[in-house]
Amino acid sequence: MPWTVLFSRGLHQGLVAFPDPYHLYEEFMDTSRFPGSAHQDQLARFLSGKYAGKTIAIVVTESDAAAAFFHSHPRLFPEARHIAFQTVRDVPSSPSHNPASQVESVQILTDFRGAIADMIRVADPRSVYVIADTDDHSQEKRLWSFQQAMAEVGQGIEAHYLLDVPMTALLSQLATLPPESAIFYLLMFDDGEGTPITPFEAARRIAETANAPIFSHWDSLMGSGILGGYLLSGERVGQIAARAIIAQLDRQPFTLGEGDAFVSAYDWGPLQRWGLDPGRLPRQTQIHNRPPDLWLVFKREIIILGLVSVGLFISLFLFQRNRLFKRMNAELSRLSMTDALTGLLNRRAIDTLLVQECARCQRTGHPLTVLIFDIDHFKRINDQYGHPQGDQVLTRLASTLQQVIRRTDHLARWGGEEFILLAVDSDLDQAAVIAEHIRAAVQAMVFADQIRATLSIGVAEYDPQEAVEHVCARADTALYRAKRTGRNRVAIDPRGADRQ
Ligand code: GH3
Ligand code: MG
Ligand code: MG
Repeated sequence: MPWTVLFSRGLHQGLVAFPDPYHLYEEFMDTSRFPGSAHQDQLARFLSGKYAGKTIAIVVTESDAAAAFFHSHPRLFPEARHIAFQTVRDVPSSPSHNPASQVESVQILTDFRGAIADMIRVADPRSVYVIADTDDHSQEKRLWSFQQAMAEVGQGIEAHYLLDVPMTALLSQLATLPPESAIFYLLMFDDGEGTPITPFEAARRIAETANAPIFSHWDSLMGSGILGGYLLSGERVGQIAARAIIAQLDRQPFTLGEGDAFVSAYDWGPLQRWGLDPGRLPRQTQIHNRPPDLWLVFKREIIILGLVSVGLFISLFLFQRNRLFKRMNAELSRLSMTDALTGLLNRRAIDTLLVQECARCQRTGHPLTVLIFDIDHFKRINDQYGHPQGDQVLTRLASTLQQVIRRTDHLARWGGEEFILLAVDSDLDQAAVIAEHIRAAVQAMVFADQIRATLSIGVAEYDPQEAVEHVCARADTALYRAKRTGRNRVAIDPRGADRQ
């Protein structure tokens, strides 16, 4: 049983303080499965066989049943002094079998006054439903003590005693308790239908269905689903037993401080379930099963993660800012090279390209030809249809030119209604073909409002001997010739042709 486990743990902890070597033997009686004197006589014979040849200095009995057993088998461990832990008062106070040996009786009685006071402080219930079975003497004693305590400290609370109620009926009753109820669980050792059950298991089943918080008085029930309370602690009682043993061996008097065996303990889950304020719990309350504080458990990890995150954030920020600057720079340089209306390269950009292409021409000897286009009578279009329509013509014309030319050639807006094309790797003849193709394409175009437009085109091939501006001037001169000779035509500067 959980109680026995806790007691044993406390006993071992307490004996750590004992300086000399010792042997500690633990024997467990199972009176629920093997009741009656025949079994107990057999147990006594078994124990005297098992410990034959060993001198047992002290026997500690932890339950009334064990004390009674030891008392009624005087020839077992005759030299042993006996420390009897009592939780009810009726254990024999002096051994009849061996006047030389002494029983030291350590009374650790339940403190139901404390338990009821705790319950009132935490839940302040209007009614309390007390669960117990009464089929053995200890149980009757417990019930009687509880009723006494209730009369003293539980005034104003309606107490309902659910005694020896079969488990099924009990569960259905507890599921529908009125508001402001609490349950006080005195132990159950059978389910009321003849099946033995551990107090812990009974508590677990009750906690599953009950619709009110369950208080009790034994810390071995923690974890079954009960809320908690002012509890008799198995571990504390074990530690007290160790102190009593050490005092006996040292022949020192043993004294038990008030409250030594009790703890105020509550379970986190039920506290949440019943919405009870942990602030109302008594000071120095133990809270069991509280979810771990993540900060305390993972302090190191959280700090590392935090630093890494900050580092990452800063890097990301710098990276993004860098990217933004790069993008802004790229956009600025694109804008600085682009004509706002048509989206073609502007004059500054084409000047640079012209210098580059001329240099390449000088280096490789490949031909380069310059074509300058001027819209015929563009002023008339503006006058007749308005400036915005004129703009439209410029824009559409620019995108048509862009589609017609080769990808390696460079097209730019040269002036108001003038464009320039650098025909890379093209000599005069090839450029003349391109120019004628463009001229014809534009002539065939119909713009909005049925506007039509034509182009005059001047063409000049670059001579690697001449200055860069010079080839443009010659193309321009050719263009004026095209204008003079009737517009909507291509005029070739003869110089390249001469050269060939
Ligand atoms: P031609 O070249 O055939 O001799 O006659 P033109 O009417 O085209 O002659 P000119 O070069 O004198 O006139 C060009 C006109 O182009 C003048 C100007 O109002 C117009 N222009 C220049 N830039 C723009 C522009 O961005 N938008 C519009 N709508 N018109 C422009
Ligand atoms: Mg012009
Ligand atoms: Mg013009």
